Amino acid sequence: MDLRLETDVDLTSLNSFGVPARARALVRVRTPRQVRQLVDHPDLGVRPKLVLGGGSNTLFVKHPESMVVKVEIPGISVVRDDTAATVIDVGAGVGWHALVAWTLDHGLPGLENLACIPGTVGAAPVQNIGAYGLELADRVESVDAVDLTTGRLVTLDAGACRFGYRDSLFKQALAGKSIITSVRLRLPKPWTPVLGYADLARHFARIGVAAPDARQIFDAVCEIRRAKLPDPAVLGNAGSFFKNPVVNRTIRNEILEDFPEIVSYPLEDGNFKLAAAWLIDACGWKGRALGRAAVDAHHALVLVNRGGASGAEIVTLADAVREAVRSKFGISLEFEPFVV
Ligand code: NAP
Repeated sequence: MDLRLETDVDLTSLNSFGVPARARALVRVRTPRQVRQLVDHPDLGVRPKLVLGGGSNTLFVKHPESMVVKVEIPGISVVRDDTAATVIDVGAGVGWHALVAWTLDHGLPGLENLACIPGTVGAAPVQNIGAYGLELADRVESVDAVDLTTGRLVTLDAGACRFGYRDSLFKQALAGKSIITSVRLRLPKPWTPVLGYADLARHFARIGVAAPDARQIFDAVCEIRRAKLPDPAVLGNAGSFFKNPVVNRTIRNEILEDFPEIVSYPLEDGNFKLAAAWLIDACGWKGRALGRAAVDAHHALVLVNRGGASGAEIVTLADAVREAVRSKFGISLEFEPFVV
């Protein structure tokens, strides 16, 4: 199928914040071949490109000047199934939550902790999505991407993706230089539940289930997230707006002296992850609004569009929150969404 260029496209419904923006040009790609055609195209190939999946990690503060490439590559298939694991290949345009539901419907556990995360499969490796003690990197076998300079399809194994905490090569050296077309996920056998997070443990203690199966974990994660996080269809948001900061032991101990109740978690490398939501709440920003943008009343990590906010208003709020945390704790919070 030929590529079709759409012009002057309203992006309001294509970003989960629901902020207004218009694309001068937008192309939808439904196969890896179309992505390659786009790169090789004599006119479109040379234009700067902005890749959009589910729009749940992008905040538009102005109309994008780049051509928007909406990745809609479908397909889920089992490519290998042996005693050690089942490996599935998933098109970048598949919705992440729909994929998690599909795996469970097909008796393939291993992704249940990542239920209800908005966005597409292609966006998942970019920031190495994670929740409830599991991150995408734990399940990636390899990622296919088209190099935007050469038009070549390359396969990067998990090591080459340089996954870090909500980070990857696609967010660093390859930012804006490639389009992910599919992801291969390895679901190890035998399945082992990941139940370390307190919310999950509390949930199963409350309902009296000692050894939950994957479906029960999926249902629990959905229930907990729906109770805690605003639905973007009702209140525009992009999930967590700030990354949890990672600090070394010295800094963590200094903060602990002044704020003994601070929430922190030791990491394997000796550093500590601080709960950004706790820092924001401690600065009194939970539930506060600046104009039409607000810090969610239930979850301080989530910034919401209360209706009609622009991307710039949301960034103004985010900067105010960041400044409050910096002046109280000396820590600079990083944004999770990509600001365009
Ligand atoms: P929570 O359970 O209230 O915990 C607050 C923070 O402490 C989380 O960010 C989590 O870090 C960390 N934490 C909690 N228990 C931990 C443990 N046993 N070991 C290490 N770190 C621990 O968090 P929440 O905000 O309700 O979110 C629950 C999960 O969903 C988290 O994993 C969170 O990352 C994920 N989530 C992600 C998004 C997003 O848009 N990226 C949005 C909402 C929730 P981690 O974030 O590193 O897990």
